[in-house]
Amino acid sequence: MKVRFYLVIISLLLFFSQTNADSNLNVVVSIKPYHSLVSGIMYGIASPKLLLKGNLSPHNYSLKPSDAERLQNADIIFWGGENLEVFLVKPLSSLTKKAKVVSVFEINGLKLKYFRHLNHMGKYENHESYISNISNTQYLEQQSTVDPHLWLDPENAKIITNRIVNVLSEFDPENDKKYQINGEKINVRLNELDKELSAEMREISNRTYLVLHDAYQYYESRYNLKNEGSITIHLDHFIGVSRLRKVQNMIKKNEVFCIFAEPQYSQKIIETLIKGTSVKKGILDPIGSNLLPGPELYFDLMKNLSISLKACLN
Ligand SMILES: [Zn+2]
Repeated sequence: MKVRFYLVIISLLLFFSQTNADSNLNVVVSIKPYHSLVSGIMYGIASPKLLLKGNLSPHNYSLKPSDAERLQNADIIFWGGENLEVFLVKPLSSLTKKAKVVSVFEINGLKLKYFRHLNHMGKYENHESYISNISNTQYLEQQSTVDPHLWLDPENAKIITNRIVNVLSEFDPENDKKYQINGEKINVRLNELDKELSAEMREISNRTYLVLHDAYQYYESRYNLKNEGSITIHLDHFIGVSRLRKVQNMIKKNEVFCIFAEPQYSQKIIETLIKGTSVKKGILDPIGSNLLPGPELYFDLMKNLSISLKACLN
């Protein structure tokens, strides 16, 4: 009996070592959407570690001791750049002596957009065009003006995927074929996702709405959606009375079908704003805060956005 028990244990250990330990590469990724792409590319080779778990926002996260340990032991760290993840700026320069640090924000070829500004009516001014790459010399002055929520366009996700494949292949050449094959599979799925979302979003492209914070312009540009403005300018600041008046004005003039809250933040302000009006409340989750980390998360996150948008705006 005992012998059989040990045999089962041994075969289980062999099974796990075959599927999970094809590489000793220690990869750490800051936020769920990027962690999802890295997990897909490393599928069958190793599992990358995630810093921001659960229902947390990168805009106001603070590093825990266990995160610091992860960073210290990492070979490669992927993060979203200092516009998105202020909490990582200092730790990355002090803790990570041996790691290769890759800022997704700085990957060549991304379609980037400046942050939008609100005009005197409280609506976004048009920013239709994309910025091409930020050059190194312009980088420091320009980067604070660029919107870092760039994963919400599948075209950018493809460019990010290709770069991750290259970084991992360089670091771990023994597995380069596997990284490439996984990367190609993800790109095929990203193309399918993009087609699907284009078709889904067509019927709501003339419906106007507001969001809690300006996180969605990459998605909105890609799929021609009409977000008129955000409730907050900075998530960590109080919302001013004049901003609330402008929003109330837009609601009065029937310029808004729906206001979208986010799972990480209190929904009280939005509930107060729409009380007694015909405006509906929806929830958009730009980072997958309620989704399980892993290769599927990116695709679920993007589809969930389309489901929430359609449910509230149709
Ligand atoms: Zn954000």
